[in-house]
Amino acid sequence: MKEIKIITTTDDVLIQCPNCKEWEEAGIDEPRKRFVHIPIIEWLEDKKDRNEKSINECSECKEKFKVEWDYTNDLEKLENKVFDFLDNLRDTAITNMLGATPYIEKEFNVTKETAKILLVSWIKKA
Ligand SMILES: [Zn+2]
Repeated sequence: MKEIKIITTTDDVLIQCPNCKEWEEAGIDEPRKRFVHIPIIEWLEDKKDRNEKSINECSECKEKFKVEWDYTNDLEKLENKVFDFLDNLRDTAITNMLGATPYIEKEFNVTKETAKILLVSWIKKA
């Protein structure tokens, strides 16, 4: 089962299906059962000192996936980390930077769509 992390902004929590383009956001203070397009169907057992994890099901593609509720996975901070990573990756010349999406997906546990958004903002910044 694929696993992703929530992405947080100042006001919202964003969940994106790793299997299709479906995504949903809810206010950071709202109850988590408010997710209706990508509902939580089960909470996994709590492990000490770890983030909570749930299993969510996408109403679009019907696939289930794990979600780690990492509230520190802030979009702006994530962007900064990804930008550093991409700067390094460019220096190694392992890949043409336009093909960097899978590297971002793997390194940061984000979906393809999120990785593309991050890559585009890095390219614009450069
Ligand atoms: Zn889906």
